[in-house]
Amino acid sequence: MDTSTLVPAPVARTNDGSPPTPRRWVRLFEEGGADQRDLLGGKGANLAEMVRMGLPVPPGFTVTTEACRATTAADGTAPSELADEVRSAIAHLEQVTGLGFGDPTAPLLLSVRSGAKFSMPGMMDTVLDLGLNPETVAGLEAKTGDRWFALDAYRRLLDLFGRVVLGVPEEQLSAAATPLLERHAVTDPSGLPVEGLEELIAAYDAAIVAATGRPFPTDPWEQLDAAILAVFRSWNGNRAVTYRRMEGISDDLGTAVNVQVMVFGNAGDDSGTGVAFTRDPATGEARPVGDFLLHAQGEDVVAGTRTTEPLSHLGAVFPECEVELLEVFRRLEERYRDLCDIEFTIEHGTLYVLQTRVGKRTALAALRIAVELVDEGVIEPAEAVARFTPDQLEMLLHPRFDPAASYEPVTRGLAASPGAAAGEVVLTADAAVARAAEGVDVLLVRPQTSPEDLHGILAARGVLTSRGGLVSHAAVVARGIGKPAVCGAADLVVDPDAGTVTIGDVVIHAGDTISIDGTSGDVVVGEVAVVAPAAPPELVRLLGWADEVRELRVLTNADTPEDARAALERGAEGIGLCRTEHQFLGDRLPLVRHVILATDDADRDEAIADLYVQQRHDFVELLEAVDGLPVTVRLLDPPLHEFLPRVEQLLVADATRGLSEEEHHLLDGALAWREDDPMLGIRGVRLGLLRPEIYAVQVRALLDAAVERSAAGGDPQVRIMIPLVSAPAELAAALAAVRAVAAEVEAAAGHPLSYEVGAMIETPRAALLAGVIAEQVDFLSFGTNDLTQMTFGFSRDDVEARLLPPYLAQGILPADPFETIDVDGVGELVRTAVERIRATDPTVDISVCGEHGGDPTSVGFFSAVGFDDVSCSPFRVPVARLAAAHAELGLLGPASHDASV
Ligand code: ADP
Ligand code: MG
Ligand code: MG
Repeated sequence: MDTSTLVPAPVARTNDGSPPTPRRWVRLFEEGGADQRDLLGGKGANLAEMVRMGLPVPPGFTVTTEACRATTAADGTAPSELADEVRSAIAHLEQVTGLGFGDPTAPLLLSVRSGAKFSMPGMMDTVLDLGLNPETVAGLEAKTGDRWFALDAYRRLLDLFGRVVLGVPEEQLSAAATPLLERHAVTDPSGLPVEGLEELIAAYDAAIVAATGRPFPTDPWEQLDAAILAVFRSWNGNRAVTYRRMEGISDDLGTAVNVQVMVFGNAGDDSGTGVAFTRDPATGEARPVGDFLLHAQGEDVVAGTRTTEPLSHLGAVFPECEVELLEVFRRLEERYRDLCDIEFTIEHGTLYVLQTRVGKRTALAALRIAVELVDEGVIEPAEAVARFTPDQLEMLLHPRFDPAASYEPVTRGLAASPGAAAGEVVLTADAAVARAAEGVDVLLVRPQTSPEDLHGILAARGVLTSRGGLVSHAAVVARGIGKPAVCGAADLVVDPDAGTVTIGDVVIHAGDTISIDGTSGDVVVGEVAVVAPAAPPELVRLLGWADEVRELRVLTNADTPEDARAALERGAEGIGLCRTEHQFLGDRLPLVRHVILATDDADRDEAIADLYVQQRHDFVELLEAVDGLPVTVRLLDPPLHEFLPRVEQLLVADATRGLSEEEHHLLDGALAWREDDPMLGIRGVRLGLLRPEIYAVQVRALLDAAVERSAAGGDPQVRIMIPLVSAPAELAAALAAVRAVAAEVEAAAGHPLSYEVGAMIETPRAALLAGVIAEQVDFLSFGTNDLTQMTFGFSRDDVEARLLPPYLAQGILPADPFETIDVDGVGELVRTAVERIRATDPTVDISVCGEHGGDPTSVGFFSAVGFDDVSCSPFRVPVARLAAAHAELGLLGPASHDASV
């Protein structure tokens, strides 16, 4: 590709040969590079990189983020040198283009664009066509012979400058435009004839005077200085601040300002503008996709106000530009080693690239692209692992419409962001927030969305729009936050004022339920059942690479052979927690009740014998399903009354209809075992010591099952775990009982048994005494649910509904401590315990079971603290494997909250 005529040679020297004046706040594009995102912002750094690569970028310069920070610190006053430095940079642009800023005969026009370190699409402001005034408009017309074009550019400047720089409310500008558009029977100003544009310009001029008390500033320098300051200000605008909260971007970074020579996609029918991705950001397929518009300026594509053409049609109109664009894609992927998105403009058949960055993508696309880039030899497997986050993996497991459900789509739009959702129709962002706050699932339905609708999209389960393509605002935002979206459903007529959505003769009202599938684009009236999808084939390979990276072993919490098999299929390396109480529920309940309520020793022995048979059978099956891998069996944990009917229930029945003899018996038992505070009552090892026959029968059934499995040629790896320990001596007593039973089993079997013993660390006391406890065991597993309850002094069921929501909303807690480990409090106990365990015996295996074991952030913490394994529910095993790899790569770390309050 020959781009030599498009790109200015770097200037090292000024005209007279002297070195250029050093600039502190401003860098020409040719002076920067992709590694300078901190200083130049992402957009500026990438523009500089593309200039360096020789790609066709209109010349320009970047006012640095340092200048923004300095200006913000000085309450909006720019550094004193800035104006001169900008003037010297403009002189450079005038020199390379041969145009003059404010020169009516050959006007130089500029775009003034925001661009922070992290991409914040559409969140801050851009002013286009800056430098126009009545004289330069005339000059532009004379130069191009195209009055329509000159006026179109001017009305865009008045609109953007009015809104962004002068702060004229958007409604006032559109109120000025609407009657005119109606009179000319067009929906968008680009459809206006010359006279219409003249009227529109006059209307905008009047609206600006009305709103600000001053006419539009015709001095180009005044325009430029004000626009730069306005972009700086937009860093702290509402939209930008909301977006940063959502994405966790620091408020201190500031934005750079990119000042660039304008190129014109609206210069005629041989011109146009578009947005493209080097690979499909929805599916990851290695094929460029995008949208373009003929005879239009950039914002028109993203605004979703005009219907775009797919990129695949570009070649039919601009065959040479298509070839050139494909070459640009190839070069960008080679340079960035990833999917890139670009903005391009074609002016009179010449291609310009206006922006690039490593593009956002769906979770599905992230996975496919990462794996295919390894196959293409572009990146290493570990980097592919790093590029696919545990959060994205969770998104991949997003629901879809149940294939078994029968439904009739009322229409189909673009599949803009995957996932399916059903909800009540709301037609404004505010309504979405209000209804969602009442606990209603809502779907936001709009003609199109804009950054002003962000809070509504966040509150909704999904988004449906009638206009806009795959790069429209709704589509980009929904993909970014992992919500389903169907966009550009052109059959929809959305009327927020009337509160209706019409599709042909179907009328849907706000408050009606509809369903959308962002993977197929289907829109259905009524509710469709949603199901979790099958994992894509690339996932197996990527998780295989994750396994090579990670050091943490991933175990699972499984009580049945079915659960265990489901977990092993997902890559679990054994069972970290088998809760034996689950074996006592359902039709086994009478067995346990019999043990609890036994009237004399003989009765009890009979009950225990029955229980033994059942338990042994359960353990044989489980050990067979998990042959050769560790099976950690926790002896009975809950309080006994959990196996009995509720006292209140029985008392009510007694008062109303009378109790049977058996029920009386149950009531006596329930009263005998009743507790005021069961979470802190007689359960776990405490119960094991009070009613030794229960643990004894469990241990005997388990070890006999192991003997049976060994005899059958199996390789049972039994670990016996004692719950709710708080004193080393109670553990010692429980383990002595375990060993006594084991000795009997060994004697009967005629050979020694191999099994491991361990304890749960789930009381603060156990955490503090973990060093002493470690002397008695082979392994320790942190029960972080109980440990969290007892450390906070929370009873989970009570606080989760009533206390945590306001605490989270007020920022008192950074996250639900039952979902993500509380690093500062519970985490401190864990850290202390681990240090003490390691000091006693570095070989003790340290694990966590409970929900935190499958939470990525918490996995990062356990890895950092030095755990050997995590154990989580079967469904979360893949997430835990990936999270463990990310932790190893240093991508997931514990973050303190209280230290910074
Ligand atoms: P955003 O970050 O919201 O995408 P941009 O700064 O990229 O904002 O600009 C908004 C629109 O203006 C884009 O469509 C872009 O292509 C267009 N644009 C920016 N600079 C120029 C330019 N020099 N010539 C023509 N169009 C431009
Ligand atoms: Mg852009
Ligand atoms: Mg527990």
